[in-house]
Amino acid sequence: MTNRLLYEGKAKKVFETDHPYEVLVYFKDDATAFNGVKKGQIHSKGILNNAISSLFFELLDSRGVKSHFVKKIDERSMLVKKLKIIQIEVVVRNIAAGSLSQRIGWPEGKILPKPVLEFYLKDDALGDPLINDYHIAALGIATPQQLEHLADQSLKINAILSEHLLARKVKLVDFKLEFGMSDQEILLGDEISPDTCRFWDAETNQKLDKDRFRRDLGDVEEAYQEIYNRLKG
Ligand code: UDP
Repeated sequence: MTNRLLYEGKAKKVFETDHPYEVLVYFKDDATAFNGVKKGQIHSKGILNNAISSLFFELLDSRGVKSHFVKKIDERSMLVKKLKIIQIEVVVRNIAAGSLSQRIGWPEGKILPKPVLEFYLKDDALGDPLINDYHIAALGIATPQQLEHLADQSLKINAILSEHLLARKVKLVDFKLEFGMSDQEILLGDEISPDTCRFWDAETNQKLDKDRFRRDLGDVEEAYQEIYNRLKG
């Protein structure tokens, strides 16, 4: 790898390419949780998340959802369009879990009557606080039209992924998305993987995602592998 490193995050590295509007995303095995307080490694996670994200981006593309994904390059890297990331994390939830359970007091596993959409400010120093459309307007992060587009796309992505996963006996509990600007256009960015989604086995409710790492449940790599296997069919 001779290309210049542009950015290193918790789970990925981003490298420059010869093309000014494309970058290479390299998926690491490093795992963090609780805003970086818990650190570790999940063997082969980078390989599996690259493969899983690539499959999801291809699926979404086939259903008219535009993303930064260009192509999978090798085991651990994908070529993507360079984005100016919008500083919002969009979370979509179908079943109560995690911070929603804490916030509204619903037990983990309680089905939400309709999908719940949330916005978080992408700011590690502040611990990514929950924000609403008024905060977003005040901060000037996105216009109302852009925010509506993010919401529409996120709910559409939820419908596509939920259906696709359920056919493979996986419940999509919740997930996080990031978007960015590429030449005036909003594209889906980041990754879609067991790091950023909660996946439960449809029959047993067994967790097949990063909660296995967060809560020391064991068989973390096996869970990521299982998601890949079911997607590959
Ligand atoms: N999530 C994420 N990155 C974050 C926070 C959340 O990918 O920085 C994902 C998380 O994996 C889950 C969903 O967003 O699928 C909702 O997470 P939640 O708000 O319940 O927070 P958590 O319990 O993970 O702290």
